Amino acid sequence: MNPFLDLGIRHEVVNAITEMGFEKPSPIQEKAIPVLLTGNDDFVGLAQTGTGKTAAFGLPLLELIDFTQKHPQALVLCPTRELCLQIAKDLEKYAKHVDNVHVVAVYGGANISDQLRQIRRGVQIVVATPGRMLDIIGRKAIDFSNVKYVVLDEADEMLNMGFQEDINNILSETPDTKKTWLFSATMPKEVRRIAQNYMTDPHELTVGTKNTGNVNIEHQYYVVKARDKYAAFKRIVDYYPEIFGIVFCRTKIETQEIAEALVRDGYNADSLHGDLSQQQRDKVMKRYRDRSLQLLIATDVAARGIDVNDVTHVINFSLPDEVENYTHRSGRTARAGKTGVSLSLINVKELGKIRRIEKIIGKQFEKKQVPEASEVVEKQLLAMTDKIRNVDINEERIAPYLPSIMESMQDLSKEDIIKRFASLEFNRFLDYYQNAPDLNVDARERDGDREERGDRRSRTASKGYTRLFINLGSVDEFSRGDMLGLICDAANISGKSVGKIDMKGVFTFFEVQDADVNKVFEGFQGTEYNGRAVRVEVSGEESRGGGRSRGGDSGGRRRDRKSGGSGSSYRGDRRDSGSFRGERKRAASRSKY
Ligand code: AMP
Repeated sequence: MNPFLDLGIRHEVVNAITEMGFEKPSPIQEKAIPVLLTGNDDFVGLAQTGTGKTAAFGLPLLELIDFTQKHPQALVLCPTRELCLQIAKDLEKYAKHVDNVHVVAVYGGANISDQLRQIRRGVQIVVATPGRMLDIIGRKAIDFSNVKYVVLDEADEMLNMGFQEDINNILSETPDTKKTWLFSATMPKEVRRIAQNYMTDPHELTVGTKNTGNVNIEHQYYVVKARDKYAAFKRIVDYYPEIFGIVFCRTKIETQEIAEALVRDGYNADSLHGDLSQQQRDKVMKRYRDRSLQLLIATDVAARGIDVNDVTHVINFSLPDEVENYTHRSGRTARAGKTGVSLSLINVKELGKIRRIEKIIGKQFEKKQVPEASEVVEKQLLAMTDKIRNVDINEERIAPYLPSIMESMQDLSKEDIIKRFASLEFNRFLDYYQNAPDLNVDARERDGDREERGDRRSRTASKGYTRLFINLGSVDEFSRGDMLGLICDAANISGKSVGKIDMKGVFTFFEVQDADVNKVFEGFQGTEYNGRAVRVEVSGEESRGGGRSRGGDSGGRRRDRKSGGSGSSYRGDRRDSGSFRGERKRAASRSKY
């Protein structure tokens, strides 16, 4: 038997919600429906958005209301127009197979005459935002004398938005005998006070944690210059290879432009906005749901009611004009108990808006740095190696081709093959990120200062040291000790001259005493490691795109030296010293380094 039938919901409604994909009640529904169905109690439910609370109060309402009558019997108050429309739409969907159900959505910013006309025609359930509701009450256009149930949905949000007095005034228009059902994600004392003032011994239920917003959402922001926004956005997306995201823009045009640019740049993206026909919308949504699309670029209006599970990131490419819309955007992730990230790309002037949002959601944002190019490259490489490692192998079907594949690869070592596979997908990526600048506003400003002083050293170099970049890293199977040995041998300097070594996947940053910097450049000049020209640069130059190794060296010259096959002091020392262990030693002896 269907568990909703067990709970006491009628067949027609169960059929409708089954069509909507509800198989079994969510925790809040399981707990709240039996209590609310009695129609005897006031009720307080602590539940976050995305927990299924609309059905938790909506399904009991459909059982309790007398639909042969055409006067308002239930009033649902909620904070925003979007939520108002969504609740009304959901109720209509649940009631699809029930006759004579009339729901009206009453909200600001829309033509009031249409709403008044619907009320005059007769409605049983009014879903409203407080301001417009008061307006209609003020016009004496609605009779609440038969209201039996008032639902205060997202009560904390309504109070945050300053609707306390409006709510008081609206409630005073409803009969004392009504039952009040309050839903809130958090329970600040103002909400508690409503419960005390308007309810009698309410039945209280909690789903999830008390006094927090959706704890599963991490809120983050990145400060970037307007002109760098798109590049920063792409870099963040690249940093999360498994991203399945919704990207919010402010306007239809922005939505379309971003989607087009992303597609042009090889991303799996499409847009959803108000100019699309219903058919086009459905098509985009189907692709997104099926995960044929990785990024859905949407306006607030178009994204209303999107309920796709497993969205990993909500990206606010532009912050919403109305701060409260942020909650609705971020609520598209971390649904059904999952975790998710809501990140915003902002300029310095928008920090105030972030602070206002923090107040509304009751949570702090984490300031994040746009990942460095090397970090993105590393993440992508690791994702790809994971993919290779986990690929399903159809032994039977690949078998006939294996002998010729093996033959064509026989002169390549395992390492060579791995590198070639990686490069196949990666060369474009490496090229793209080769000269990629730091996109963080603060970093850029600091770099700018330094340039003015003619000082090209990295901001993080310790005093008396220069921070250098080398295009060898942990993927080359170097440990930090190996790297230290390599540098000392190549430059013929003592270990004491080398400061911090910051190994990345395909790069390493290391500090060298200012006096020894040229020795390092000279030592590495024209050398290669496993067939790859070794590149050493002052950190910061490599990221600015113009600079190459110091000392007048050029890529061309390095290649010349390489083909000439000349050794370096490092090479001989390294082999003889035997400080490389195991595989490392063999790799070193096969190549120049
Ligand atoms: P809400 O918290 O009411 O906004 O609901 C969040 C999402 O979960 C909506 O898209 C609902 O359609 C969906 N939902 C609610 N209850 C269930 C259920 N029992 N089974 C599956 N989906 C549900």
